[in-house]
Amino acid sequence: MTLLSMECAVCGVSAPLTCTRCRLVRYCNGEHQKQHWPKHKRCCKPFREEQDPALGRYLAATQDIQAKQIIFVEEPLVVGPKWFLTEGEKSATIVPCVGCFTPCRLGKHQCRNCHWPVCSVGCAHESLECSILSLGNAPGAKSDVRGQHDYFRHDALLVLKCLLLQRSQPERWKALLEMQSHEEERLGTELQLEAEQRIVSYLQQRFLRRLKSNTNKQNVLSDYEPELLHRLCGIIETNYMVIELATGVELSGLFRQACMMEHACQPNCYFQFDATTHRIAVRAGCDIKKGDHLKITYTNILWGTQMRQHHLRMTKHFSCRCPRCEDPTEYGSYVSAMRCLGDVSKTCDGLQLPVEPLNEQTQWKCDTCPMLVDAAYVTEVQTHMTEEVERLLAGSPTASEVELLLARLSQLLHPNHFHMFNLKHTLIQLYGHEPGLELVTLTDLQLGRKLRLCEELRNVCHRLDPHSIKLAIYVSVILIEIAHTLEEKARRLPAEAKLQLELAQSHLQQAEEVLEKVQDSVAGKKLNDRLQLDQFELDKLMLANNHSQTQTAV
Ligand SMILES: [Zn+2]
Ligand SMILES: [Zn+2]
Ligand SMILES: [Zn+2]
Ligand SMILES: [Zn+2]
Ligand SMILES: [Zn+2]
Ligand SMILES: [Zn+2]
Repeated sequence: MTLLSMECAVCGVSAPLTCTRCRLVRYCNGEHQKQHWPKHKRCCKPFREEQDPALGRYLAATQDIQAKQIIFVEEPLVVGPKWFLTEGEKSATIVPCVGCFTPCRLGKHQCRNCHWPVCSVGCAHESLECSILSLGNAPGAKSDVRGQHDYFRHDALLVLKCLLLQRSQPERWKALLEMQSHEEERLGTELQLEAEQRIVSYLQQRFLRRLKSNTNKQNVLSDYEPELLHRLCGIIETNYMVIELATGVELSGLFRQACMMEHACQPNCYFQFDATTHRIAVRAGCDIKKGDHLKITYTNILWGTQMRQHHLRMTKHFSCRCPRCEDPTEYGSYVSAMRCLGDVSKTCDGLQLPVEPLNEQTQWKCDTCPMLVDAAYVTEVQTHMTEEVERLLAGSPTASEVELLLARLSQLLHPNHFHMFNLKHTLIQLYGHEPGLELVTLTDLQLGRKLRLCEELRNVCHRLDPHSIKLAIYVSVILIEIAHTLEEKARRLPAEAKLQLELAQSHLQQAEEVLEKVQDSVAGKKLNDRLQLDQFELDKLMLANNHSQTQTAV
């Protein structure tokens, strides 16, 4: 993906000059730059950094910004391997290349100097990093896999890469240390303990302590004490952005300006990453008004408020106070709402909602009867359900298995509850695709259910993320499944075929537009390929339908 044009914005020839203010447009000469300014000034660096005692530093729009416009492009301070590895990844035999992060097989190729895994003999990595890594005693390529995993810890490399900036890029080092680390809050927490074992003592024992005794390398770094390493861990955890490459590889990045963007559970910006230059482009996800803060989301917006808050407190050390978090109904989506069970004497069909959504200990109150329940009860029920839903979905369930759990949970949860959402989103992809449940074999009732579920899910997505900035994948799956259902309806009701097919076409077009935002992710690419096929099939269907109608007319 190329983010920026290399040609003059006026005449289109290859251009050596760049607008120094935004560095987003190029010109062949000063004359053309001057000529373009009246037009360009409306989108040149349309934001500024501001400071607020509660928010810290943030970015605010200084003029109206149009949806999709690139707001800024930025070089990274650091880009490195994935920060939190899953258990599977910790023991995988495919690991990221130390030079270019391409997945490579453990034991196949090694850097000649430090012996860390590389993708090919020719792939080099930064010489300073290599010289520090070469202080360790790397296990041989033939040694047992456990020993190799224990030694080659790619997540710790990210901290080393940060640390080396003090020598290689003093400017970036300075900017990095200005970032929030939440050191005090981390002291004595599980996070800090984990960082100690996973990163700090590992880097110290295997590599950094050996610097002291190595006369050639003694002066490479001036500070590499545990306190500094912990501070870097804090900075990474508070600020890092997850970067998903089109190859499926996940990287972590720290960006001075992008990391200043405020978090909100309904974002107005999103970013794209250029895998070659490692630059990031921040784009407007919708029209942004002058004065609005630029916002991205650091958590899963499909979770209910309690879960999002918990996740943000644990990883980013703050409580979100955005309008969604303060609203017990979460923009009328009811994704956290539980059904009221009434009391012994009387049943009730009201809904339990948190009285103070931002308070972890909040009571939940029924909107129809005086019933109150406490946070502990809700948390217990939720945790139990999370396990049940995750267990079911992990085992590739059939539609009827999903229906069963859905029926059981519906006794306790609002139909839009995020657990219900999850199950229903799985269900719409089973009806019409599961062997034995192909579209043509579905009963009219099942087809109707599929369509209704799609509409319900779409409504929830629209409330939580009206511009499909975070939920692009979910929304396009829904739109594609709606289109499939409408095509099948067209087949069943020839009289309505034209109308239904046109409707299906408009849904596929909407899906195409939504997918634009995620075109550089694996899931986005895969869906886009499928969409192309679907559009092709639909075109054929429409042609055939037109043909048969003209035939009947004749
Ligand atoms: Zn020009
Ligand atoms: Zn400019
Ligand atoms: Zn490589
Ligand atoms: Zn090396
Ligand atoms: Zn929020
Ligand atoms: Zn009630």
